[in-house]
Amino acid sequence: MRVRCHAAPAGTGGKRVKQIAIYGKGGIGKSSTASNVAAACADEGYRVTIIGCDPKSDSSITLLGGHRIPTVMELMQQGMEITENEVVFEGYKGVRCVEVGGPEPGIGCAGRGIIVAIKMLQNISSVMQDSDLIIYDVPGDIVCGGFAAPIRKGLVSETYVLTSGEYMPLYAANNICKGFARLGNPLNGVICNSRNAENEENIVRAFAEELGSELLAFIPKVDLVQTCERAGYSVIEKEPDSDIAGVYRKLGRAIMERDVACEPKPLTDERLRELTG
Ligand code: SF4
Repeated sequence: MRVRCHAAPAGTGGKRVKQIAIYGKGGIGKSSTASNVAAACADEGYRVTIIGCDPKSDSSITLLGGHRIPTVMELMQQGMEITENEVVFEGYKGVRCVEVGGPEPGIGCAGRGIIVAIKMLQNISSVMQDSDLIIYDVPGDIVCGGFAAPIRKGLVSETYVLTSGEYMPLYAANNICKGFARLGNPLNGVICNSRNAENEENIVRAFAEELGSELLAFIPKVDLVQTCERAGYSVIEKEPDSDIAGVYRKLGRAIMERDVACEPKPLTDERLRELTG
């Protein structure tokens, strides 16, 4: 069953910068997906920027050969005047990497961190305008005020939900879609990051379709992704000829070509339980 789907609105004249966020339960693989998609799109010649919001700098570390970069919040807290070179770092194939810095444990920052950091970035750097694709890798849990902030402030123009076929990640993905529905924010697609659950692809495809969206990619569980990450690289860089690199390339293309958005229609808890058996 499909609900209203429509072409995403074009930008306000001139070149359209795709500004996407991938949401999902903590630990489901958002940073791996974001960094591999960033690398895949850079390989295709797109100018890509990735903006992470994680204390561990997970989003950028595999694009920078395992190097951690200072976060905008850290530098701001030191009260220093910040220059572009101190917060924007070029990684694999020119991907520009920025780390906002994570929430304080148990407190979060109600979205202020990312908004303040982006405003500052807009003043000192042209990356926000000079990109074909900006990927926001923000904590997806709805308890974090940051979930809504990038959408409310118009920083994000496309949203994707990442889940596996297990109940808890699907529950979180469904909750995120409830948040989108409340904000009037469209959903651009669902991505399955497999955990080898039984009948997983069919479950996530059915979930996506019942939401009114579609399954854009099924990313199989492959140890190579973690092996490359431990070495400080994306699979796109370290194992470019692997099958899994091909899956990320396909996903990158699907995102770059995507101009369809749907108003998500979240499932009931009962229906979610039925789906996951
Ligand atoms: S509230 Fe936001 S900026 Fe703050 S930590 Fe959460 S996502 Fe990041």
